[in-house]
Amino acid sequence: MHPASIFRPTLLLYWLAALRPVQPETLFHSRDRSDLEPSVVQQAQPIADFRSAQRFLAKYGWTTNPRLGARGAPGPSAFARAVRAFQRANQLPATGALDTATLRAMNRPRCGVRDPQGAPELRGGPRPSPAARPRAKRFLQLLRPLPGGEEAWRDGEAIRVFSRSTLKWRLVGEGYSSQLSADDQRHIFRLAFRMWSEVTPLHFREDLTGPSTQVDIKLGFGRGRHLGCPRVFDGSGQEFAHAWRLGDIHFDDDEHFTPPTSDTGISLLKVAVHEIGHVLGLPHTYRTGSVMQPNYIGQKPAFELDWSDRKAIQKLYGNQYWRYDSDKDQAQTEDKQGNHYPRLISEGFPGIPSPLDTAFYDRRKQLIYFFKESLVFAFDVNRNQVLNSYPKKMTEAFPPTASHSHPVRNIESAYYSYAHSSVFFLKGNAYWKVANDKDRRHNPGLPANGLFPQESISGRWFDLCDVHTDTLSI
Ligand SMILES: [Zn+2]
Ligand SMILES: [Zn+2]
Repeated sequence: MHPASIFRPTLLLYWLAALRPVQPETLFHSRDRSDLEPSVVQQAQPIADFRSAQRFLAKYGWTTNPRLGARGAPGPSAFARAVRAFQRANQLPATGALDTATLRAMNRPRCGVRDPQGAPELRGGPRPSPAARPRAKRFLQLLRPLPGGEEAWRDGEAIRVFSRSTLKWRLVGEGYSSQLSADDQRHIFRLAFRMWSEVTPLHFREDLTGPSTQVDIKLGFGRGRHLGCPRVFDGSGQEFAHAWRLGDIHFDDDEHFTPPTSDTGISLLKVAVHEIGHVLGLPHTYRTGSVMQPNYIGQKPAFELDWSDRKAIQKLYGNQYWRYDSDKDQAQTEDKQGNHYPRLISEGFPGIPSPLDTAFYDRRKQLIYFFKESLVFAFDVNRNQVLNSYPKKMTEAFPPTASHSHPVRNIESAYYSYAHSSVFFLKGNAYWKVANDKDRRHNPGLPANGLFPQESISGRWFDLCDVHTDTLSI
């Protein structure tokens, strides 16, 4: 063989290597990891006594000091106060005593981010001294000092974190779970990001290869001491994940994370949606149904964001709207004027605030009614502005007819039914019908836009079902 024929392929390999520099992340994503041995699961130490309860209350923001209220301390027990606040939040009798039910509540699986509703003495009080904080590794000092950013969420306020609308995320190469396949993990995270992008103007893009510093949200699994994080995971049980403001989300790989179709273990989707909520700026809430509750609530396959979660995130990032092309039976991405969709409501409808509860179009009056809490805005589509006499109280613009039955605020949807020639307002499991012309001809005493007393949704509409189940199968 001519020496040149050996030489050429070698050169070619070098050339290819030079063109495509080795990317460790890419290699990790594609490598076969079936040889990895599952390690022994560590169990979290149960919270069973006064000392461990003290540590719990300090760790999750119910007291400022882990030694607070130690036995023998003078004056009223700050420890008992913290226990009472914790009991009230968990709907337990507020006795201040460390009883069995309270200990059980403390041992429930939970997120590692502090509870801002917690310690009253934290609200507006002095910041803990930097010396009291755990030492963070150098690169983490760029971020907030404790998971959740204790200063930012001290008052339970949500804060908009990102000003950009496109955010990059990555499951970090050294942080894969040993329990689910790599594809399943990434698929679940894609779904979790999608649940937030469906209700906000945010876009999330998975980035496998770019410089790590340009990735906004980095997710990873670890056990005990993990991923260079200053917070140590506790083993199976109790803390299952935590989030750092401005971007890192860690999952405790000693937990039994499962895909959303499973009815056992902890749903990775649900935990990921919760932690992404933190990264975007949402604190914990104890509102039933919210995904931002600190404790893990057993999963249902058709899990969705709660109404309160949608409102909370839209308050930070705005409402948006789509334009529907009825000829093509699909949403438009661009109109003839060159506007791209979805678009912020404030851009398309000057004077309309965010977040909104709902809206409907009155074709005859050429008005769009926008609803926000207890207010109604009537928007004139021809003059592209809010009518002068608006906003009005919903009870004024849509007064009750015969009784005091009225939704008053926060209706969840409003729509015009061609079948009934009427507008309906829906809230919870009740609906209200708005009096139409025919009703007012029969009864001239009815006020314009009067609301008939509430009825049950299930009495009029049958077979209303949950959506989203098809997107959850993997
Ligand atoms: Zn949380
Ligand atoms: Zn961590």
